[in-house]
Amino acid sequence: MDLALSPEQQEVRTLAREFAEREVKPRADAIDHNSEFPRDLVDKAARLGLLGVLVPDAYGGAGLDHVSFAIFVEEVARFCASTAVILDVHNSVGTEPVVIFGSEEQKGRWLPDLAQGKKLAAFALTEPEAGSDAAHLKTTATRSDRGYLLNGTKIFITNAGEAGLYVVMASTRPGSGADGITAFLVDGDNPGLKVGPKFKKMGLNGSAIAEVYMENCAVDEADRLGNEGQGFRIAMRALDSGRIGISAQAVGLAQGALDDAVAYARERKQFGKPIGELQTIQNKVADMAVKIRAARWMTWKASALCDAGLPFTREASMAKLFATDAAMEITLDALQVFGGYGYLEEYPMARRVRDAKACQIYEGTNQVQRVVIARELERV
Ligand SMILES: Cc1cc2nc3c(=O)[nH]c(=O)nc-3n(C[C@H](O)[C@H](O)[C@H](O)COP(=O)(O)OP(=O)(O)OC[C@H]3O[C@@H](n4cnc5c(N)ncnc54)[C@H](O)[C@@H]3O)c2cc1C
Repeated sequence: MDLALSPEQQEVRTLAREFAEREVKPRADAIDHNSEFPRDLVDKAARLGLLGVLVPDAYGGAGLDHVSFAIFVEEVARFCASTAVILDVHNSVGTEPVVIFGSEEQKGRWLPDLAQGKKLAAFALTEPEAGSDAAHLKTTATRSDRGYLLNGTKIFITNAGEAGLYVVMASTRPGSGADGITAFLVDGDNPGLKVGPKFKKMGLNGSAIAEVYMENCAVDEADRLGNEGQGFRIAMRALDSGRIGISAQAVGLAQGALDDAVAYARERKQFGKPIGELQTIQNKVADMAVKIRAARWMTWKASALCDAGLPFTREASMAKLFATDAAMEITLDALQVFGGYGYLEEYPMARRVRDAKACQIYEGTNQVQRVVIARELERV
């Protein structure tokens, strides 16, 4: 088994690292403190081809694999988890369903704009009354002369208000659960789609989440993604590789926290010597490093299975569960290494703790990951 990165994957790491260190790092604090959507960074990432990471080059994308995708998200998340989740959601759950399930006409219409960053993508599954139990969503899609009319409310939608494309799950057969769900590609300019005010949240302050309301939102038949009743499968497939992105985001958050903790422990002196010479601090950073290594390899393993066209649902859920729990522990431990300074918003440690919490919740809570993993184990 080869655990080395290919030359192409190493190139992606170099490119993403330079972008993250030069462009993202200096902006991260302001993005958080001002709850500022980093449109400038999205545009810069687009110019580097980082908005079409998983889009084939025939449609103007970079045509990279999921290992490269994970590397790119990790590098950005080392400095700014808000920017990472915006780019992650766009590339994975927002764009990849079009790559995998889109017709030639849909791919030609959407992918070049998405890959060039002319449009940002969002994924709209969750509803006020249907979170973990997404199969029982209430948004309906009823047949009309031209196609369908969508009616319903989505909640917590990342990139809402900023997106030019919403991948929306709605029921074409209400009362049929998962079998009645159909996916639609809804233009952000559709007059039947409205976005509520941005929610104030505890972290990821640069990313926008809001409610999305659809009232007689008319979409053409040609905007249906896949067949009627295929929407739940499309959503679950999107979330499988979406979880690779969330794992990578968690690894990046944790790596950034470890890097800062090690640097601080070298400099901060108490009792006449650097605190990094205290065994209690050494134990902490060693444990952090081990968990990060394990989380990164689990993320790459799930990515490699996906790239090989093999089943990867279980590995993606395992990686998401492990990496995001590890990120929560590691960001808290790193904050502790900073002592009282860690508690100040002047340092990035508190921000990382606030940001890491979301990773345990979205794209399936970590309790739901355990349900997925147990179900997958029973299949063996
Ligand atoms: C910052 C952020 C961004 C998000 N972005 C998006 C997005 O872009 N698109 C989108 O569609 N959604 C998005 N979400 C929604 C997110 O995916 C949901 O919040 C999540 O799936 C949980 O749903 P819920 O909040 O309704 O919680 P609930 O489902 O009500 O869960 C409440 C609690 O019960 C537990 N629970 C529920 N069911 C089970 C079960 N079967 N077994 C064990 N425990 C269970 C949960 O783990 C949780 O602890 C986002 C959420 C956040 C916070």
